[in-house]
Amino acid sequence: MAGAVGRGPPSAWCRAAAAGRPWAVSARDPVEWVPGREALARGAAHLRAGGEVGALRPVGAAARRAAAVHPARAVAHPVSAVARPVVLPVGAAVPPAGAAVHRPGPVVHPADAAVRPVGAVVRPVGAVVSAAAAGCAWQSCRSVMAQDTTPPQIPAMLIDVHAHFYHDRTLRADWRERNASRLRAGERIGITTHVASILGSFGRTSPTYFPSPADLEYGNNALIGLEHTHPDRIRGYVTVNPNYATHARVEIQRGLAAGMIGIKLAASRRASDPLLDPICELARERGVPVLHHVWQHRRRDWPGQEASDAVELCALAARHPDVRFILAHIGGGGDWQHSLAALARIPNVAVDLSGSGVDGGMLESCLAAVGVERLVWGTDLTMDTGWAKLRYLERLLAPKELELVRWKNAARLFPHGVFPSD
Ligand SMILES: [Zn+2]
Repeated sequence: MAGAVGRGPPSAWCRAAAAGRPWAVSARDPVEWVPGREALARGAAHLRAGGEVGALRPVGAAARRAAAVHPARAVAHPVSAVARPVVLPVGAAVPPAGAAVHRPGPVVHPADAAVRPVGAVVRPVGAVVSAAAAGCAWQSCRSVMAQDTTPPQIPAMLIDVHAHFYHDRTLRADWRERNASRLRAGERIGITTHVASILGSFGRTSPTYFPSPADLEYGNNALIGLEHTHPDRIRGYVTVNPNYATHARVEIQRGLAAGMIGIKLAASRRASDPLLDPICELARERGVPVLHHVWQHRRRDWPGQEASDAVELCALAARHPDVRFILAHIGGGGDWQHSLAALARIPNVAVDLSGSGVDGGMLESCLAAVGVERLVWGTDLTMDTGWAKLRYLERLLAPKELELVRWKNAARLFPHGVFPSD
């Protein structure tokens, strides 16, 4: 999420954290998270057996026991945050009992057809789509079609590597509408896959950048639910807080077993910190990328987050040359030239073009600094600026290069076969 980063005054929760809300703690010290014995045993057994969705999700009493062992110096969660059973949110698709585990790859359950919005486009694998099926592209093609009766062909694949969705325990009462509007806008832009994350409760019951284990699980479960509802359009990053080192690794395994395809790290811990090494090692073992939130030039710390910039992310990437990293939102605010200077020397970091920034020369500088093969397209919270950058890239790049940024570079970052045309 770039909205609170790099520009403007601190967000509401930052101010609340500075004012001493009890669960806003320093991110300096690692904290331990010990899952309830019962939940852990159940989860491990499920993983060994093939990993049903939500296998490691502590439920009811187990969740309360797990929450109760958070160390006193760590996060004191509001009671309401830990006493509620962790369930998929109302409105999210609940995988039916006995349903197939959602593996990477295009999986369409018969039941999903019923929940797909009327008029939604299901694009055939590897095909190009007509302008009529591509929403707003139709508008821009009308004048062409007036002279030529052959329907114009446009590239079918467009992967948004940096999307967010909400759930019923975030601060947005209109979470359903926000999720639906992202999908609608995606239809109009031509997005074929939203690769998304949910940062816990987005600040409602634990800080956005220091989410509690319970909130992480709830958010990840909500995203798994969305994946099941829209298997042809939504993929998920497992979001974890590296300060809960044990929990982070268990949660990553659980999320990947449920069909998620990457790891999202926000500003819970400095990117260069050794505490991130076990997470990166797991990313290497599982062959999934790490999307890391950054400021484009970190010059100070803000309450409630431990912001990192490209220099720090590159230090981590240099220690893990076999892991693919994505530097979040080069347009997220701040000095992107500072980032580009650091990135040039580290080949295993791709640049996500998302964020509200549309500075003149930024895209050209990205191309010059890292080359077209390290650029991936995304939107973050501002889909309009993502769309604007896409239109600009259409004029900046040759068709083959555009295809790389639209989806082929992203497809190389993620496990093979997780996207329809991959
Ligand atoms: Zn974001």
